Amino acid sequence: MNDAGNALADKQTPLSAGDNVRGAFDVEAVRADFPVLHQEVYGKPLAYLDSAASSQKPRQVIRAMDEAYETYYSNVHRGLHYLSQTCTDHFEAAREKVRRFLNAEKAEEIVFTRGATEAINLVAASYGRKFLKAGDEIVLTTMEHHANIVPWQLLREQTGVELKVAPIDDNGDIRAEDVIDLIGPKTGMVAITHISNALGTVVPVKQIVAAAHEAGVPVLVDGCQAAPHIPVDVRDLGADFYAFAPHKLYGPTGVGVLYGRYDRLESMPPYQGGGEMISRVTFEKSNFKKPPHRFEAGTPSIVEAIGLGAAIDYVETVGREAIAAHDARLLAYATRRLSEIEGLHIVGQATDKAAIVSFVTDWAHAHDVGTILDRAGVAVRAGHHCAQPTMDRFGLSSTARASFGIYNTEAEVDQLVDALHMVREIFG
Ligand SMILES: *Cc1c(COP(=O)(O)O)cnc(C)c1O
Repeated sequence: MNDAGNALADKQTPLSAGDNVRGAFDVEAVRADFPVLHQEVYGKPLAYLDSAASSQKPRQVIRAMDEAYETYYSNVHRGLHYLSQTCTDHFEAAREKVRRFLNAEKAEEIVFTRGATEAINLVAASYGRKFLKAGDEIVLTTMEHHANIVPWQLLREQTGVELKVAPIDDNGDIRAEDVIDLIGPKTGMVAITHISNALGTVVPVKQIVAAAHEAGVPVLVDGCQAAPHIPVDVRDLGADFYAFAPHKLYGPTGVGVLYGRYDRLESMPPYQGGGEMISRVTFEKSNFKKPPHRFEAGTPSIVEAIGLGAAIDYVETVGREAIAAHDARLLAYATRRLSEIEGLHIVGQATDKAAIVSFVTDWAHAHDVGTILDRAGVAVRAGHHCAQPTMDRFGLSSTARASFGIYNTEAEVDQLVDALHMVREIFG
């Protein structure tokens, strides 16, 4: 991390919403920053309730990316020339913004990947193949996204590790003790979600990390749903690895974040080989760079990382506490309104929950519910949400899921509820 990067990281993009909403959250000012929201679909105002799958992008992010391409775009880290140095400064400034966002100790602990999925695969492949052996156990929860299941199954095929899965109850709640009970002398890694994308359950990660560390076991946290909803402090949590998806945090696709405690990263071999990650290559041997560059083979997602930096600026200007409070208000309102609908059942009623509401109805299959809602302008997701074991736990193949972001309103919840009454009339 160079000084220029630090200076750029402190420079905030001017914001319309942020100026208005710090302290007092003004959702209309936020909405004004998201061009895509202001449209009709099938002649109905769009109610975008699918932010858990991917969020929309504020103008500030789109502009930062346009500006990069229009004024200073070049490859990073390689050039002596002006554009390359400028672009490298912006790219490294984004890394510093991520560091600050997660309260990591240093920017070298932030690895840019192509997505959250790649971040988890990186840990499973690199840490897993070096440090884990046949019979070692990976502790997961029932609520994991496939991205935090399948990489460990691939590792199981290669090394013979075993998977242990902590249960959840009928409300979708998880007790820290149920995870901690699975940690024993053979545990090699605890890999758990921070917030379930299918149920919204918030997992007591800090307590689990403390217990795992007492047993000398590292913890990877899948923070894809936590990063957009609640303040995250990796040092307070104590996590060894923390992965999140920028495209769910109002940033672009094509880039992902892996935080790794520096000593962990330093002990790990490269995940992929190529340019940028070596200090010297001969045909006999290559020497690898230090983290994070050791894990960033090839040309990275340059402009996407810069867009992520702008998204973090945006979120921080609006205020992470204000966002968490807004989400909690919407969740409470949506839960109350949906509970009033006869024949609709909310799946996942954990005591600590983020702004995600999964539901099924007595009248129609989730996919049919989703299709009718779409015709009423309401965008929800219907399916297994890349969490089939979670669905299996409830004896379901799919649910409809409304998920809320920074820009959603109670009026949109009302639109959802009205549309659901329509579905009930059609099928019920
Ligand atoms: C979205 C999501 C992922 C995967 O993120 P990608 O963007 O598909 O890489 C992993 N875990 C959770 C909890 C998610 O919500």
